[in-house]
Amino acid sequence: MRLFLRTAHELHDLLIKKEISAEELNKAVLDRVESVEDKIGAYITRTRENALDQARAVDQQIKNGEKISPLSGIPVAIKDNMCTYGVKTTAGSKILSNFIPPYSATVVKKLDAAGAALVGKTNLDEFAMGSSTENSGFFTTKNPWDTGRVPGGSSGGSAAAVAAGEAVCSLGSDTGGSIRLPASFCGVVGMKPTYGAVSRYGLIAYASSLDQIGPFARDVTDCALMLNAICGHDPLDSTSAKYPVADYSGFLKDNVRGLKMGVPEEYMAEGIDPEVQSVILKAMEKMESLGAVVEYTSLPHTEYALPTYYLIAPAEASSNLARYDGVRYGIRAKEAEDVIDMFMNTRSLGFGNEVKRRIMLGTYALSAGYYDAYYLKALKVRTLIKEDFDRAFEKYDLLLSPVSPTTAFHIGEKTDDPLQMYLSDICTISVNLAGIPGISIPCGFAGGMPVGLQLMGKHFDEGTLLRPAYSFEQNTDYHKQFPEL
Ligand code: GLN
Repeated sequence: MRLFLRTAHELHDLLIKKEISAEELNKAVLDRVESVEDKIGAYITRTRENALDQARAVDQQIKNGEKISPLSGIPVAIKDNMCTYGVKTTAGSKILSNFIPPYSATVVKKLDAAGAALVGKTNLDEFAMGSSTENSGFFTTKNPWDTGRVPGGSSGGSAAAVAAGEAVCSLGSDTGGSIRLPASFCGVVGMKPTYGAVSRYGLIAYASSLDQIGPFARDVTDCALMLNAICGHDPLDSTSAKYPVADYSGFLKDNVRGLKMGVPEEYMAEGIDPEVQSVILKAMEKMESLGAVVEYTSLPHTEYALPTYYLIAPAEASSNLARYDGVRYGIRAKEAEDVIDMFMNTRSLGFGNEVKRRIMLGTYALSAGYYDAYYLKALKVRTLIKEDFDRAFEKYDLLLSPVSPTTAFHIGEKTDDPLQMYLSDICTISVNLAGIPGISIPCGFAGGMPVGLQLMGKHFDEGTLLRPAYSFEQNTDYHKQFPEL
């Protein structure tokens, strides 16, 4: 099979058996990028030489008989909101269109130390605000399954790259579903780890109490390998947790017997596309036939998740984005009467409409007189949402649901109606509010487009999601299907 569509674990075997070289592998992926990138637009910046340098170093290690790590020489892509030393990092925003970070994010350093080869930096909605990549300050990424449709967002470039064979694995960030939604729309595996499980040092902040970095991969085994590489405490991120990091590959067992899975009825209700619903029902049956106990349950505060999220996230964003003032980094508006004028012109010029909308909403929600009514209220509701999950996890090992009520929508379909766009996040945002882990795995097709199944688990219990995800994958072949490009 074509090298650029294989998994990291298969490629690792080929590398250590010397059937392929890392250089050959990276050239195959870089050639693939050359040939399909015009159609897909996954990358903002390509780093061909970085990939080839790393590949040659790995080949040298193999030649010297050194043991290489599972990601050594594997071509990876990184969402362009994670800092890469010396490589432009834009967060999808014109305001950072000239920003070259003087340091790398911890996850970037970790992947580099694991031998992974950086192919490029992927497109995203500006500052990760969006569900389709249409809010990118540069261009819209296309869904490899149907280039008239969005790949999902905000990590759409990272998901599309893996689906289209333009990288083997990638990193995204997930504040309200930005890994799981594009994974679902593009038919790949995507995981948001527990809040605090992966260092956010060097991730350009959107909403700091919700942001989390996680992997995209072609199967659950590769997802576990990526987790192994990126998880763990980091003294440089004060919200990174001190916890025992597992070998996530150890959870890859084809056995779900006795696992208790709850399906929140609120996630299967009104608004869900009937075809998507029937794919999810089949996936539930599959889990049952494999030996799991699957029952309906309730997360009663689900209806408040969207308004809660769309207060907290913009509030945090309005504060995080105050730093883009044309002084320390990024672009600066040329024409200005005085310094205040310079701030205003720079921000007017540099930020797109969605970002401005969120800054205004967030500033309003935090302002004196409204703080208690909006922001504080939202924090209280957030606790109720988290408590719904705590109660559900007293009874169930994990929860199952759709990732999104629909498959990938058409480009332009929701751009004029921000509320419609926000509704795409209905099944994903509660996970971020509660801080728990969630994974999207391919579970079927509706109207020819991929559908993702979401598995949600207890804090730091990623392993209990990986086992049924792996088991489901071993007994289905959705993850082995690729779009023809
Ligand atoms: N679509 C959501 C938003 O626009 C989630 C984005 C994300 O997870 N980064 O905020």
